[in-house]
Amino acid sequence: MSAVLFKNASVLDGRTNEALADHDVLIENGRIKEVSDKPLTSSSARIVNLAGKTLMPGLIDCHVHVIACLADLGANAELPNSLVALRAAKIMHAMLMRGFTTVRDLGGADFGLKMAVEEQTIIGPRLVICGKALSQTGGHTDYRGRYHHRNVDYYGDKAGTLGRIADGVDAVRRIAREEIKGGADFIKIMANGGVSSPTDPIASLGFSRDEILAAVEEARNAQTYVAAHLYTDEAIRRAAECGVLSIEHANLIKPDTARFLQESGAFVVPTNVTFDALAKEGASLGLPPASVAKIEDVRSAGLAALETLHQAGVMMAYGSDLLGEMHRHQSDEFILRGHYLPAIEVIRSATVNAAKVLGMEGELGVITPGAHADLIVVDGDPLADLSLLIGQGRHIPTILKGVSFVKNELNS
Ligand SMILES: [Zn+2]
Repeated sequence: MSAVLFKNASVLDGRTNEALADHDVLIENGRIKEVSDKPLTSSSARIVNLAGKTLMPGLIDCHVHVIACLADLGANAELPNSLVALRAAKIMHAMLMRGFTTVRDLGGADFGLKMAVEEQTIIGPRLVICGKALSQTGGHTDYRGRYHHRNVDYYGDKAGTLGRIADGVDAVRRIAREEIKGGADFIKIMANGGVSSPTDPIASLGFSRDEILAAVEEARNAQTYVAAHLYTDEAIRRAAECGVLSIEHANLIKPDTARFLQESGAFVVPTNVTFDALAKEGASLGLPPASVAKIEDVRSAGLAALETLHQAGVMMAYGSDLLGEMHRHQSDEFILRGHYLPAIEVIRSATVNAAKVLGMEGELGVITPGAHADLIVVDGDPLADLSLLIGQGRHIPTILKGVSFVKNELNS
């Protein structure tokens, strides 16, 4: 397949407030060649008529864990590496079939998975990775619990762990450098307590200021940025002051700090659907009781935070952060956000805004000449009905990722 011509499409990528009606879009060699409100012709292209349908950029989820095949992350870390890799391939394929053609992994996925997608050993979304996240002893990726004291280096070689342990500025620098050497596109740190880990209450701050500054310097030296796991207002403020750019979750943020983020150019990736899913299914899927008890500390606050962030003008990107069996809810974040934000903002979070988070503006998340031909067709108008994006791709008859149709149920 070298050329495709989409005819009469309603084009929606979030750069304007409304979709562009009756546009033709020509694809050549995996890239968008031309977008026009006049009819385009091509002698060689396969023609697909999209009257009544919406053409969108492939969706981008900016917070996933493709290696999290179990809800109990301590147990996930113990699984054989081969099993974790094969299960990750299955999780990634399902993400792609929901219309997510790019995902940013916030801890766990390694360069091997990224290579496997690029060489098409597995069929999955484009993968942007941080390698293993950095956590302090007792922090959000220390799954040893109260009574285990085995050496923390143990986690470094486990495909199924989200992160590694680093204590002290030198260790933070060394592990950040190791992850960058290993192919990390950015650095992730756990700078606050978390739900899924056993010994770090939500209010606990993770890492000293000096350790965060060291991570930020290492990332900047490598021409990239730090993303941090953060819930509380205090932790968010401290991380942003240290130069952390990508604020993950931010459930307990207050208006002053939201304004500070907006002024400093930081952005937020809320992940409400995971708290919703954990509240409903976490216990039955093996989430330890210590974690179940923490869900409500952040769940409802996270929904209110959407309005706080929107009012402050903070850029938000789409995130799901689901674990194990709960991955099937990945698209439900669209619905949750739609209760609090204008639909166009929700669309932007998974298209133009998400591409900015990835540093791939103009390449992904837009329907414009030169961009990758990562595209989905939606049967109807998602601005009028965000639920067209849920249902495991049921209302998405066509998914194009670069040069190949991942799915195409339309007659052309
Ligand atoms: Zn996460």
